[in-house]
Formats: sequence, C-alpha cells, structure tokens
Amino acid sequence: MQLKTNCRNCQSEIRIKKSVNDRLELALEIGEISILKCEQCLEKRKYHVNEIIVKESKSILLFALFIFIFGTGSLFYFFQNHLISPNSLIAFGGLLIIPSLIYAILTKQEEENVRRFNQYKY
Ligand SMILES: [Zn+2]
Repeated sequence: MQLKTNCRNCQSEIRIKKSVNDRLELALEIGEISILKCEQCLEKRKYHVNEIIVKESKSILLFALFIFIFGTGSLFYFFQNHLISPNSLIAFGGLLIIPSLIYAILTKQEEENVRRFNQYKY
C-alpha cells in the first residue's frame, strides 16, 4: 500500500513513507496530527491522520503481473513438446490456473488492505 494525501495548497500528491496495516497503526506511528511538507510547493502544513489515504502499491501489482506472465510462460516452455495428447493439454490447462490464482490473490489482498485502510477513520 502507498500512503498519500493531497497538498492543500497546490493539490499535488504528498507521499508518506510508512509501512502500516491500518489507520490506527499509522496514528500511533506519526500521531493524530502530523506536519507534512509538499515536495512541489514546499509548504508545510498540519494534516489529520484521517486525511491520509492509501492506494494500491504499484510494486505489488507489478509483482503479481510478473508472476502471472512468468508462471504462464515457463509452464508453456515446459509443456511445449508435450502438448499433443489430450491428457497433457488438460494438465497444462489445469496448471495455468496456478499463476492466475496467485495473481488474483495478490491483487485481491492489496485491494482489500486499501479498502480497509480507507474505510477506518481514527
Ligand atoms: Zn503543495
């Protein structure tokens, strides 16, 4: 998850580099009110912990995509000379579910974390 808020002065994104699971944890870490500095307009302002929202971390989504592509690709590589008989086709199809499933679980989990964080107000 990536923590961020929007600068009240120039509306640009201010990122907060913390690794927390929910807003309560964030409040305990940085306090209910924290002073954040905007990298664009360099203005420092006080922000309430409720003003901080999260979005899906790009690196997790990329990682999930990588697993999906790499998993599917290597399965195809291992099966390329055996995709003649119906049985191996079925096995190949079945195994393809694994990278798709990992992809789905990773992205779903991240989505869930983001939803939970943004829902809970301190
Ligand atoms: Zn600003």
